[in-house]
Amino acid sequence: MFSVNKCDSYDSKIIKKSLNFCLAELGGLDKFIKKEDTVLIKPNLLMPAVPERAVSTHPEIIKVLINKLNKIGCKIIIADSSSGDYSFECMENVYKECGYSNFKEISNDFSSKEYQNKSGFIKKYDLISAFFKADKIINVCKVKTHMLTTMTCAVKNLFGLIAGKNKTYFHSRFSTVDDFSKMLIDLAKIAKPCLNIADGVFGMEGEGPSRGKIKKLGIIAASTDCFELDYNISKIIGIDYKKIPYLKLAKDYGLFKENNKNYSDYKTQFKIPNSELISKLFKLIPPKLRSIYIDFFVKKPFIKDTCIGCGLCAKSCPAKAISIIKGKAKINYSKCIRCYCCHEICRYNAVGLRKGKT
Ligand code: SF4
Ligand code: SF4
Repeated sequence: MFSVNKCDSYDSKIIKKSLNFCLAELGGLDKFIKKEDTVLIKPNLLMPAVPERAVSTHPEIIKVLINKLNKIGCKIIIADSSSGDYSFECMENVYKECGYSNFKEISNDFSSKEYQNKSGFIKKYDLISAFFKADKIINVCKVKTHMLTTMTCAVKNLFGLIAGKNKTYFHSRFSTVDDFSKMLIDLAKIAKPCLNIADGVFGMEGEGPSRGKIKKLGIIAASTDCFELDYNISKIIGIDYKKIPYLKLAKDYGLFKENNKNYSDYKTQFKIPNSELISKLFKLIPPKLRSIYIDFFVKKPFIKDTCIGCGLCAKSCPAKAISIIKGKAKINYSKCIRCYCCHEICRYNAVGLRKGKT
Protein backbone atom coordinates (compact mmCIF):
# COMPACT_ATOMS: atom_id res chain seq x y z
CA MET A 1 0.00 0.00 0.00
CA PHE A 2 1.15 3.54 -0.83
CA SER A 3 0.28 6.81 0.84
CA VAL A 4 1.28 10.39 0.04
CA ASN A 5 0.63 13.72 1.69
CA LYS A 6 1.63 17.32 1.16
CA CYS A 7 4.53 18.59 3.26
CA ASP A 8 5.67 22.07 2.32
CA SER A 9 8.60 22.51 4.68
CA TYR A 10 10.93 20.83 7.15
CA ASP A 11 9.12 22.38 10.10
CA SER A 12 8.73 19.50 12.55
CA LYS A 13 5.01 20.20 13.13
CA ILE A 14 4.29 20.05 9.40
CA ILE A 15 6.38 16.89 8.98
CA LYS A 16 4.61 15.27 11.92
CA LYS A 17 1.18 16.01 10.47
CA SER A 18 2.15 14.68 7.06
CA LEU A 19 3.91 11.58 8.37
CA ASN A 20 1.03 10.82 10.74
CA PHE A 21 -1.36 10.96 7.79
CA CYS A 22 0.75 8.58 5.68
CA LEU A 23 1.35 6.11 8.50
CA ALA A 24 -2.32 6.13 9.53
CA GLU A 25 -3.28 5.23 5.96
CA LEU A 26 -0.92 2.26 6.15
CA GLY A 27 -2.51 1.11 9.42
CA GLY A 28 -0.33 2.95 11.97
CA LEU A 29 3.32 2.62 12.95
CA ASP A 30 2.51 0.11 15.69
CA LYS A 31 1.18 -2.26 13.04
CA PHE A 32 4.80 -2.75 11.87
CA ILE A 33 6.92 -2.05 14.93
CA LYS A 34 6.62 -3.68 18.34
CA LYS A 35 8.17 -2.70 21.67
CA GLU A 36 10.58 -5.65 21.63
CA ASP A 37 11.94 -4.82 18.15
CA THR A 38 15.34 -3.38 17.30
CA VAL A 39 14.69 -1.02 14.41
CA LEU A 40 17.31 0.14 11.92
CA ILE A 41 16.52 3.56 10.45
CA LYS A 42 18.33 3.68 7.10
CA PRO A 43 18.52 7.25 5.77
CA ASN A 44 20.14 8.36 2.51
CA LEU A 45 23.48 9.83 3.61
CA LEU A 46 25.29 9.70 0.30
CA MET A 47 28.07 12.10 1.25
CA PRO A 48 28.86 14.95 3.65
CA ALA A 49 26.36 17.57 2.49
CA VAL A 50 24.29 20.02 4.53
CA PRO A 51 20.53 19.24 4.52
CA GLU A 52 19.80 22.35 2.41
CA ARG A 53 21.60 20.74 -0.56
CA ALA A 54 18.85 18.09 -0.76
CA VAL A 55 21.41 15.30 -1.21
CA SER A 56 20.56 13.46 2.02
CA THR A 57 17.44 12.57 3.99
CA HIS A 58 16.55 15.63 6.04
CA PRO A 59 17.32 15.11 9.78
CA GLU A 60 13.99 16.67 10.87
CA ILE A 61 12.13 13.74 9.31
CA ILE A 62 14.34 11.33 11.24
CA LYS A 63 13.72 13.32 14.44
CA VAL A 64 9.95 13.12 14.03
CA LEU A 65 10.17 9.39 13.26
CA ILE A 66 12.34 8.75 16.34
CA ASN A 67 9.79 10.53 18.55
CA LYS A 68 7.09 8.28 17.19
CA LEU A 69 9.21 5.14 17.67
CA ASN A 70 10.08 6.20 21.23
CA LYS A 71 6.39 6.14 22.05
CA ILE A 72 6.33 2.47 21.02
CA GLY A 73 9.45 1.86 23.13
CA CYS A 74 11.53 -0.11 20.62
CA LYS A 75 15.32 0.02 20.34
CA ILE A 76 16.54 2.30 17.52
CA ILE A 77 19.75 2.27 15.49
CA ILE A 78 20.52 4.81 12.76
CA ALA A 79 23.12 3.66 10.24
CA ASP A 80 24.17 4.10 6.64
CA SER A 81 27.35 3.52 4.68
CA SER A 82 27.99 6.56 2.51
CA SER A 83 30.06 6.54 -0.66
CA GLY A 84 33.44 6.60 1.16
CA ASP A 85 34.92 4.24 3.75
CA TYR A 86 32.69 2.67 6.37
CA SER A 87 34.81 3.95 9.25
CA PHE A 88 34.42 6.29 12.19
CA GLU A 89 36.66 8.91 10.54
CA CYS A 90 34.63 9.01 7.35
CA MET A 91 31.13 8.58 8.77
CA GLU A 92 31.64 11.07 11.62
CA ASN A 93 32.04 13.79 9.01
CA VAL A 94 29.03 12.55 7.01
CA TYR A 95 26.79 12.50 10.08
CA LYS A 96 28.02 15.95 11.13
CA GLU A 97 27.53 17.64 7.74
CA CYS A 98 24.15 15.98 7.16
CA GLY A 99 22.89 17.24 10.54
CA TYR A 100 22.80 13.86 12.31
CA SER A 101 25.47 14.42 15.01
CA ASN A 102 22.96 14.94 17.82
CA PHE A 103 21.15 11.66 17.31
CA LYS A 104 22.21 9.38 20.15
CA GLU A 105 20.83 6.45 18.12
CA ILE A 106 23.67 6.65 15.56
CA SER A 107 25.51 3.33 15.35
CA ASN A 108 29.15 3.47 16.43
CA ASP A 109 29.83 -0.02 15.13
CA PHE A 110 31.57 0.26 11.76
CA SER A 111 32.09 -3.42 11.22
CA SER A 112 30.44 -5.49 8.52
CA LYS A 113 29.53 -9.13 8.00
CA GLU A 114 29.04 -11.45 5.09
CA TYR A 115 25.46 -12.22 4.15
CA GLN A 116 25.02 -15.55 2.36
CA ASN A 117 22.39 -15.33 -0.33
CA LYS A 118 22.43 -18.83 -1.76
CA SER A 119 19.40 -18.59 -4.04
CA GLY A 120 19.86 -14.97 -5.15
CA PHE A 121 21.52 -13.21 -8.08
CA ILE A 122 24.58 -12.44 -5.95
CA LYS A 123 25.67 -15.14 -3.52
CA LYS A 124 27.49 -12.97 -0.97
CA TYR A 125 27.09 -9.41 0.27
CA ASP A 126 29.23 -7.60 2.80
CA LEU A 127 26.61 -5.69 4.80
CA ILE A 128 26.94 -3.20 7.66
CA SER A 129 26.61 -4.87 11.05
CA ALA A 130 23.54 -2.76 11.97
CA PHE A 131 21.61 -4.78 9.38
CA PHE A 132 22.23 -7.99 11.35
CA LYS A 133 21.35 -6.39 14.69
CA ALA A 134 17.95 -5.15 13.48
CA ASP A 135 14.67 -7.03 13.53
CA LYS A 136 13.07 -4.41 11.25
CA ILE A 137 14.30 -1.81 8.80
CA ILE A 138 12.66 1.55 8.18
CA ASN A 139 14.04 2.86 4.89
CA VAL A 140 13.92 6.68 4.87
CA CYS A 141 14.99 7.73 1.40
CA LYS A 142 15.30 10.91 -0.65
CA VAL A 143 13.57 11.56 -3.98
CA LYS A 144 16.25 12.30 -6.59
CA THR A 145 17.19 11.60 -10.16
CA HIS A 146 20.34 9.55 -10.69
CA MET A 147 22.86 9.59 -13.53
CA LEU A 148 23.20 5.80 -13.52
CA THR A 149 19.84 4.45 -12.35
CA THR A 150 17.67 7.41 -13.58
CA MET A 151 15.93 7.66 -10.19
CA THR A 152 17.01 7.01 -6.61
CA CYS A 153 14.34 6.55 -3.97
CA ALA A 154 13.61 3.53 -1.73
CA VAL A 155 15.22 0.69 -3.72
CA LYS A 156 18.51 2.42 -4.55
CA ASN A 157 18.80 3.73 -0.97
CA LEU A 158 19.31 0.15 0.21
CA PHE A 159 22.65 0.08 -1.66
CA GLY A 160 23.98 1.91 1.43
CA LEU A 161 23.60 -1.32 3.43
CA ILE A 162 26.68 -2.56 1.59
CA ALA A 163 29.72 -1.63 3.64
CA GLY A 164 32.11 1.06 2.38
CA LYS A 165 34.38 0.21 -0.50
CA ASN A 166 32.45 -2.93 -1.37
CA LYS A 167 30.05 -0.59 -3.16
CA THR A 168 32.92 0.40 -5.43
CA TYR A 169 33.54 -3.24 -6.23
CA PHE A 170 29.86 -3.73 -7.07
CA HIS A 171 29.96 -0.78 -9.47
CA SER A 172 32.83 -2.40 -11.34
CA ARG A 173 31.36 -5.91 -11.23
CA PHE A 174 27.98 -4.70 -12.51
CA SER A 175 29.11 -2.04 -14.90
CA THR A 176 25.98 -2.05 -17.06
CA VAL A 177 22.82 -0.50 -15.71
CA ASP A 178 20.91 -3.74 -16.36
CA ASP A 179 23.26 -5.84 -14.22
CA PHE A 180 23.37 -3.11 -11.58
CA SER A 181 19.55 -3.15 -11.53
CA LYS A 182 19.48 -6.92 -10.98
CA MET A 183 21.80 -6.47 -8.02
CA LEU A 184 19.64 -3.67 -6.56
CA ILE A 185 16.54 -5.84 -6.80
CA ASP A 186 18.37 -8.75 -5.17
CA LEU A 187 19.48 -6.52 -2.30
CA ALA A 188 16.00 -5.05 -1.80
CA LYS A 189 14.60 -8.58 -1.48
CA ILE A 190 17.19 -9.36 1.20
CA ALA A 191 16.66 -6.13 3.16
CA LYS A 192 12.83 -6.25 3.01
CA PRO A 193 12.23 -2.96 4.88
CA CYS A 194 8.93 -3.16 6.75
CA LEU A 195 8.35 0.51 6.00
CA ASN A 196 9.65 2.91 3.36
CA ILE A 197 9.33 6.65 3.83
CA ALA A 198 10.27 9.16 1.11
CA ASP A 199 11.57 12.64 1.89
CA GLY A 200 10.08 14.46 -1.07
CA VAL A 201 9.84 17.89 0.52
CA PHE A 202 12.82 19.00 -1.54
CA GLY A 203 14.22 16.55 -4.08
CA MET A 204 16.79 16.74 -6.84
CA GLU A 205 16.39 16.70 -10.62
CA GLY A 206 18.83 16.48 -13.52
CA GLU A 207 22.36 15.39 -12.71
CA GLY A 208 21.53 13.66 -9.41
CA PRO A 209 22.20 12.19 -6.96
CA SER A 210 24.55 14.93 -5.77
CA ARG A 211 25.09 17.53 -8.52
CA GLY A 212 21.57 18.02 -9.79
CA LYS A 213 19.21 20.94 -9.24
CA ILE A 214 17.21 21.18 -6.02
CA LYS A 215 13.52 20.79 -6.80
CA LYS A 216 10.62 21.45 -4.46
CA LEU A 217 8.16 18.57 -4.55
CA GLY A 218 6.39 19.25 -1.25
CA ILE A 219 5.45 15.71 -0.25
CA ILE A 220 6.12 12.92 2.19
CA ALA A 221 5.16 9.44 1.03
CA ALA A 222 5.24 5.98 2.59
CA SER A 223 4.73 2.38 1.60
CA THR A 224 5.22 -1.06 3.04
CA ASP A 225 6.96 -2.03 -0.19
CA CYS A 226 10.04 -0.33 -1.64
CA PHE A 227 9.15 -1.13 -5.28
CA GLU A 228 5.62 0.16 -4.84
CA LEU A 229 6.93 3.36 -3.27
CA ASP A 230 9.33 3.99 -6.15
CA TYR A 231 6.74 3.17 -8.80
CA ASN A 232 4.24 5.66 -7.35
CA ILE A 233 6.91 8.32 -6.81
CA SER A 234 7.99 7.92 -10.44
CA LYS A 235 4.43 8.83 -11.44
CA ILE A 236 4.44 11.86 -9.14
CA ILE A 237 7.71 13.19 -10.57
CA GLY A 238 6.56 12.49 -14.13
CA ILE A 239 9.08 9.81 -15.11
CA ASP A 240 7.72 6.75 -16.89
CA TYR A 241 8.80 3.79 -14.74
CA LYS A 242 9.78 1.92 -17.92
CA LYS A 243 12.59 4.46 -18.28
CA ILE A 244 13.92 3.52 -14.85
CA PRO A 245 15.83 0.28 -15.52
CA TYR A 246 15.49 -1.30 -12.04
CA LEU A 247 11.74 -0.54 -11.92
CA LYS A 248 11.15 -1.91 -15.40
CA LEU A 249 12.95 -5.09 -14.39
CA ALA A 250 11.07 -5.28 -11.08
CA LYS A 251 7.79 -5.05 -13.00
CA ASP A 252 8.93 -7.86 -15.32
CA TYR A 253 9.66 -9.93 -12.19
CA GLY A 254 6.13 -9.19 -10.92
CA LEU A 255 7.36 -7.25 -7.88
CA PHE A 256 4.71 -4.52 -8.13
CA LYS A 257 1.51 -3.85 -10.00
CA GLU A 258 0.73 -0.83 -12.17
CA ASN A 259 -2.21 1.35 -11.15
CA ASN A 260 -4.16 4.07 -12.89
CA LYS A 261 -3.77 6.70 -10.18
CA ASN A 262 -2.92 10.15 -11.46
CA TYR A 263 -1.72 11.99 -8.33
CA SER A 264 -2.58 15.31 -10.00
CA ASP A 265 -2.56 17.11 -6.60
CA TYR A 266 1.05 16.13 -5.97
CA LYS A 267 2.67 16.08 -9.41
CA THR A 268 5.88 18.00 -10.17
CA GLN A 269 7.76 17.21 -13.36
CA PHE A 270 11.41 16.32 -12.67
CA LYS A 271 14.02 16.73 -15.37
CA ILE A 272 15.60 13.35 -16.00
CA PRO A 273 19.35 12.90 -16.41
CA ASN A 274 20.08 12.53 -20.10
CA SER A 275 21.88 9.25 -19.35
CA GLU A 276 18.48 7.56 -19.77
CA LEU A 277 18.14 8.57 -23.42
CA ILE A 278 21.78 7.74 -24.06
CA SER A 279 21.49 4.19 -22.69
CA LYS A 280 18.37 3.65 -24.82
CA LEU A 281 20.20 4.67 -27.98
CA PHE A 282 23.21 2.59 -26.91
CA LYS A 283 21.22 -0.62 -27.17
CA LEU A 284 20.31 0.16 -30.79
CA ILE A 285 23.95 0.47 -31.89
CA PRO A 286 25.90 -2.53 -33.24
CA PRO A 287 28.44 -3.69 -30.59
CA LYS A 288 31.43 -2.86 -32.82
CA LEU A 289 30.45 0.80 -33.05
CA ARG A 290 29.65 1.25 -29.38
CA SER A 291 33.05 2.56 -28.29
CA ILE A 292 32.83 5.35 -30.89
CA TYR A 293 29.35 6.19 -29.67
CA ILE A 294 30.52 6.24 -26.04
CA ASP A 295 33.38 8.58 -26.91
CA PHE A 296 31.12 11.14 -28.52
CA PHE A 297 27.73 10.88 -26.86
CA VAL A 298 28.02 9.50 -23.32
CA LYS A 299 28.91 12.15 -20.78
CA LYS A 300 32.30 11.58 -19.26
CA PRO A 301 33.77 12.99 -16.08
CA PHE A 302 36.44 15.68 -16.27
CA ILE A 303 38.48 17.32 -13.55
CA LYS A 304 38.01 21.03 -12.92
CA ASP A 305 40.53 23.54 -11.59
CA THR A 306 38.88 23.38 -8.16
CA CYS A 307 40.41 19.92 -7.60
CA ILE A 308 42.56 19.93 -4.47
CA GLY A 309 43.97 16.45 -5.04
CA CYS A 310 42.35 14.93 -1.92
CA GLY A 311 42.21 11.52 -3.65
CA LEU A 312 38.68 10.62 -2.58
CA CYS A 313 37.58 10.09 -6.19
CA ALA A 314 40.59 7.85 -6.89
CA LYS A 315 39.75 5.70 -3.85
CA SER A 316 36.12 5.40 -4.98
CA CYS A 317 36.72 4.74 -8.67
CA PRO A 318 35.69 1.10 -9.29
CA ALA A 319 37.72 0.97 -12.52
CA LYS A 320 40.88 2.40 -10.93
CA ALA A 321 40.82 5.00 -13.69
CA ILE A 322 41.87 7.98 -11.52
CA SER A 323 45.37 8.86 -10.35
CA ILE A 324 46.53 11.87 -8.40
CA ILE A 325 49.31 13.51 -10.34
CA LYS A 326 51.00 16.70 -9.12
CA GLY A 327 48.19 17.37 -6.65
CA LYS A 328 45.34 16.98 -9.16
CA ALA A 329 43.13 14.07 -10.17
CA LYS A 330 43.68 12.67 -13.66
CA ILE A 331 41.30 10.30 -15.43
CA ASN A 332 42.38 7.46 -17.71
CA TYR A 333 39.40 7.32 -20.09
CA SER A 334 40.37 3.94 -21.51
CA LYS A 335 39.54 2.45 -18.10
CA CYS A 336 36.55 4.66 -17.18
CA ILE A 337 33.20 2.79 -17.14
CA ARG A 338 31.09 5.99 -16.76
CA CYS A 339 29.65 5.02 -13.37
CA TYR A 340 29.89 8.67 -12.17
CA CYS A 341 30.98 7.69 -8.65
CA CYS A 342 33.69 10.40 -8.83
CA HIS A 343 31.08 13.01 -9.76
CA GLU A 344 28.92 11.80 -6.87
CA ILE A 345 31.61 11.79 -4.21
CA CYS A 346 33.74 14.89 -4.84
CA ARG A 347 33.09 17.44 -2.09
CA TYR A 348 34.74 20.29 -3.99
CA ASN A 349 32.53 20.23 -7.06
CA ALA A 350 35.68 19.46 -8.99
CA VAL A 351 34.29 16.70 -11.21
CA GLY A 352 32.18 17.90 -14.12
CA LEU A 353 30.43 15.88 -16.82
CA ARG A 354 30.53 16.62 -20.51
CA LYS A 355 30.01 14.97 -23.86
CA GLY A 356 32.52 14.81 -26.67
CA LYS A 357 35.83 13.14 -27.37
CA THR A 358 38.42 13.48 -24.60
S1 SF4 B 1 38.34 15.64 -8.08
FE1 SF4 B 1 37.45 16.06 -6.10
S2 SF4 B 1 37.58 14.11 -5.00
FE2 SF4 B 1 38.96 13.96 -6.75
S3 SF4 B 1 40.97 14.58 -5.94
FE3 SF4 B 1 39.99 16.40 -6.82
S4 SF4 B 1 38.98 17.37 -5.09
FE4 SF4 B 1 39.42 15.27 -4.46
S1 SF4 C 1 36.58 7.89 -13.55
FE1 SF4 C 1 34.66 8.35 -12.48
S2 SF4 C 1 33.05 7.74 -13.92
FE2 SF4 C 1 34.98 6.79 -14.62
S3 SF4 C 1 34.96 4.75 -13.68
FE3 SF4 C 1 36.09 6.10 -12.30
S4 SF4 C 1 34.54 6.83 -10.83
FE4 SF4 C 1 33.43 5.95 -12.58
